[in-house]
Amino acid sequence: MENYKRTITCGALRKVDAGRTVTLNGWVHRKRDHGGLSFINLRDRDGVIQIVAGAGLSAITVELRNEYCIAVQGTVRVRPENMVNPEMPTGEIEVDAEKIVILNRSEVLPFQIDEETNANEDLRLKYRYLDLRSDGMARRIRLRSETAFASREWLTTRGFLEIETPTFIKSTPEGARDYLVPSRLYAGKFYALPQSPQLYKQLLMVSGFDKYFQIARCYRDEDARGDRQPEFTQIDIEMSFVNREDVLTLTEGLMGYIFRKTLNVQLPEKFTRLTWKEARERFGTDKPDLRFGMELKNFAPFVEKSDFSAFKDALAEGRHAQRVADSKGIRIAGAGVKALVVPKGATFSRKQIEELEAHAKIYKAKGLAWFKVGANGSMEGGVSKFFAPQTAEIVSELGVTPGDLVLIVADAKCAVANTALGAIRSKLGKDLGLYDKGKFEFVWIVDFPLFEFNEEENHWEAAHHLFSSPKEEFLDDKEKMENDPGAVLGDLYDLVLNGCELASGSIRIHDPVLQKRVFAIAGINADESEQKFGFLTNAFKYGAPPHGGIAPGLDRLVMLMAGESSIKEVIAFPKNTFAVSPMDDCPSRVEQKHLDELHLEIKKNAHM
Ligand code: ASP
Repeated sequence: MENYKRTITCGALRKVDAGRTVTLNGWVHRKRDHGGLSFINLRDRDGVIQIVAGAGLSAITVELRNEYCIAVQGTVRVRPENMVNPEMPTGEIEVDAEKIVILNRSEVLPFQIDEETNANEDLRLKYRYLDLRSDGMARRIRLRSETAFASREWLTTRGFLEIETPTFIKSTPEGARDYLVPSRLYAGKFYALPQSPQLYKQLLMVSGFDKYFQIARCYRDEDARGDRQPEFTQIDIEMSFVNREDVLTLTEGLMGYIFRKTLNVQLPEKFTRLTWKEARERFGTDKPDLRFGMELKNFAPFVEKSDFSAFKDALAEGRHAQRVADSKGIRIAGAGVKALVVPKGATFSRKQIEELEAHAKIYKAKGLAWFKVGANGSMEGGVSKFFAPQTAEIVSELGVTPGDLVLIVADAKCAVANTALGAIRSKLGKDLGLYDKGKFEFVWIVDFPLFEFNEEENHWEAAHHLFSSPKEEFLDDKEKMENDPGAVLGDLYDLVLNGCELASGSIRIHDPVLQKRVFAIAGINADESEQKFGFLTNAFKYGAPPHGGIAPGLDRLVMLMAGESSIKEVIAFPKNTFAVSPMDDCPSRVEQKHLDELHLEIKKNAHM
């Protein structure tokens, strides 16, 4: 290798280098033989350059196959005018090879190394090291590195310290299931892998490091579904002596810097803000995609005045549920009837509408009603006949125009109506291409409820996590929280980008008494809270400062920046959809000896 070490990378060569003698190291991306000449596209991490090898080198070029690792010595020269390739950054030049050395051979590839690879996901993951050679993967991994670097740079220059927190911690589930690591030294005891560094970053605030960050790996043992990964990375941030505005402003600055530095995209200085309630009402979700409009409209008043019993029953059922809940001292939201206007949707066939209905049902809607708007502004088809007498008001209130389609969901729970129609809005946004894919639309969602009621388990639980503070106005009234947990708003905030939750955070509780009250409302009694979180509440007794923070997800951020729709596309070695790594076959069985050392026994029939 000594004599063949590269003097420059392939992708770095430009026209100004013409005349230079260079040594290049890389992989044969493609080879074409042409009238005694061989044209080799040589690739390395920086790009591809064309190598031209004359007949004198044919003894070696004949051997070359795709992905052979080679060294090339030669002279850079300008390509003849008619041979310039404007598609390639190095397309104005080529290297006239004097010597080619094979550094290593490659077997026949399981798939072509190409951006357009249509290899299935498991095959790509089995040979991930090859997949990572593709231009697309290489670009995204580079973008990820640049994003992490920009975060470090920006936060460090603002006085933040990067502090590592342990990955073996006490099991204190934060919402999801913990991954557990059995202890060899202490039979029957386990470490847990952190779902996030939440408690440790709060303890660092108690310690006086008032600006902390960490690019932290987090682990959550959830069912393998959609785009979830067992492990993911957050840009974890915590600050003392701050309020919500400080955290939001800091995050806006950080995002602005990352986008400017890595993508040369200028973000607005301030991001739009919506309250949780407004986001749910207007977009049917607390992760709204604001790249397009199509807001949900309230259709309930028209139902009240109609004879459409299916919808009227939903409203009545909602009122009944409210009365029952009231009698138990629980406040719930009641029924909802929401409408979504699909511009020019009158062309939708019955089958298309049925498909949308099936989609709404995934989100627990009982059905999807509809009508179309005719040429003269009349309502046609579907449920139109029930609302005909109210045509003028409906047309004006919904702002419909001829050719539109109106979709309606009614439910005894307004959350169901909002969620189902919100999901249809997102689907249509994507299917109908209602937004500019290259746009970055950030929005803050603030004022979330602090608690939500878990109907299955019949108790209140923290909507975000247990350590978030109620908003200040709920702190004065000593009884408000306990008497009506559902009405308490948390000092919580989420950052949403293009309909994807990018970050969550909150101003934290720093008062041990308040922390215990929140535990109690969430059904964690004094003993349990002492056993699980005593170390935190004890720490709060020693002058814990007011503090708050946030944690943007690095995988999602880079995914959106790269215009991808799966975080697997920005993680070097992800697991597949079933939480398995086809490359190294993990998770895998371990030897009995190892299990014995860990004092573990696998239940009979537990193997899958
Ligand atoms: N630890 C939180 C999470 O992982 C983020 C935060 O509140 O800072 O969602």
